[in-house]
Amino acid sequence: MTISGVSALPNAKPPAARATVALVGTSHPGSAISPAAWQGALHFQDAEELLTSDFAAEAIVLAPVDETQAIEWLHILRRDARLGLKPVLLDRPFGAHAMQLSDGVAADTATAARHASEMAQRAADAGQPTATSEERLLAFLHLRPKHILTPVIEWRDTRICHYPVADTCCAPGEDGFELIDRLRSRGLLENTTLIERIHACHRCGAGQLLFVEHCPQCGGIDIGEQNFLHCYACGHVDTQETFLRHDALLCPHCNARLRHIGVDYDRALETLSCRTCHARFTEPEVKARCLQCRTSMAPDALSQRRFYGLKLTAAGELTARTGQMGDVFKLIDEFSHARPEYFLQTLDWLIDVSRRHPEVQFGVVCLTFANVHELAARLPRQRLVQLFDALAQRLRTLIRTTDLFMRESDSHCWLLLPQTSPAGMEVLLQRIAALGKTLTSDDQRIEIAVSARNSGDIPEAALGARVLMSMLRDPAG
Ligand SMILES: [Zn+2]
Ligand SMILES: [Zn+2]
Ligand SMILES: [Zn+2]
Repeated sequence: MTISGVSALPNAKPPAARATVALVGTSHPGSAISPAAWQGALHFQDAEELLTSDFAAEAIVLAPVDETQAIEWLHILRRDARLGLKPVLLDRPFGAHAMQLSDGVAADTATAARHASEMAQRAADAGQPTATSEERLLAFLHLRPKHILTPVIEWRDTRICHYPVADTCCAPGEDGFELIDRLRSRGLLENTTLIERIHACHRCGAGQLLFVEHCPQCGGIDIGEQNFLHCYACGHVDTQETFLRHDALLCPHCNARLRHIGVDYDRALETLSCRTCHARFTEPEVKARCLQCRTSMAPDALSQRRFYGLKLTAAGELTARTGQMGDVFKLIDEFSHARPEYFLQTLDWLIDVSRRHPEVQFGVVCLTFANVHELAARLPRQRLVQLFDALAQRLRTLIRTTDLFMRESDSHCWLLLPQTSPAGMEVLLQRIAALGKTLTSDDQRIEIAVSARNSGDIPEAALGARVLMSMLRDPAG
């Protein structure tokens, strides 16, 4: 291993202690690299050279010759156990695949170092093992709160679409899609927007399909477009050529002279014919042939795949941070049907209605699990799951089907109680307050703080749901 390093860049000083930036690549036309901008960065010829060195890069900047090299280096680096989660930046913008695997563009050492220190702060918050592919993918997203896992199109890929980041988190033989499906079904990843819809073979799932038009009668593929004329006098239908004689149209069957379209003749609806069986038809039969397994099928028999952008859920965020909270809220989430946006909308609407019609009463309750992180740090995971499962079972009995329940985060849950009087709410609040106490011994108790408002005592200052909720979330502030 040689670090061609500092001496390769004129004017470069030895790397400063704080800026452990690795610059990978050689100078080439179009590169934004100027020696002045990369002072303090250690220089490597390619990704392999960086990996075989023991240089503890906190940020890596790639200056590849082209996009193919950018993608190749990004895959090599992201798969590396030691450096894979570090910020990897590009010296200039590339296509979607490279950008998805990178942390954006940096034009100098200072920008790269700033990325590194931002990420180091989030990493300190997590510090969880990243041994399995699940842990790696969660950690990658936790370190990059704005990153949306986005599929990219690749014609060589059997499925046409793939998630490059998930692929690089996989162990050899593992599948990026299965990894994503596992995390999604555990509620740790959620869909954002629909990015692609792809038709796939119903037998093997491949997306490489050949669409071919066939004759509906004999199934042959030698079909073509033709003009057919229809003689009104005898009803004969044939190709336009058979009617043409000495620049005039004569029916080959009854010899009638066809002068005026719509009076003597018209064009037949069928415009396609088969050269094998001579059938005439208006619509060919379309068949899709899978290029992987060679199965032929009708287009409506194809399966459809939807590819979404993906991000961490609150539970995914928590799992990335604590490494052990993933299933803790499983039972609570089973009856937490309201999504945060829906909860917010409904609360806004109820506030409006009850201002105009004071007889419409409702209550809104904020439950705070005050010591959830302290418990997570102290108790074995199984015990924590048991505690929250028991809480979930009791909570469920208190909630009416008309109530909205929403888990906002690992420490806050919300209840919206339509048609509830202050007296009715008081009873419920007492029961909720009793929940934590009756569950278990003092040192293994979920502390539940409850703050609530009835529609009658919502202050005018609480202009909408958002303001009201922040007042309840933080009653002291
Ligand atoms: Zn197939
Ligand atoms: Zn035919
Ligand atoms: Zn005729």
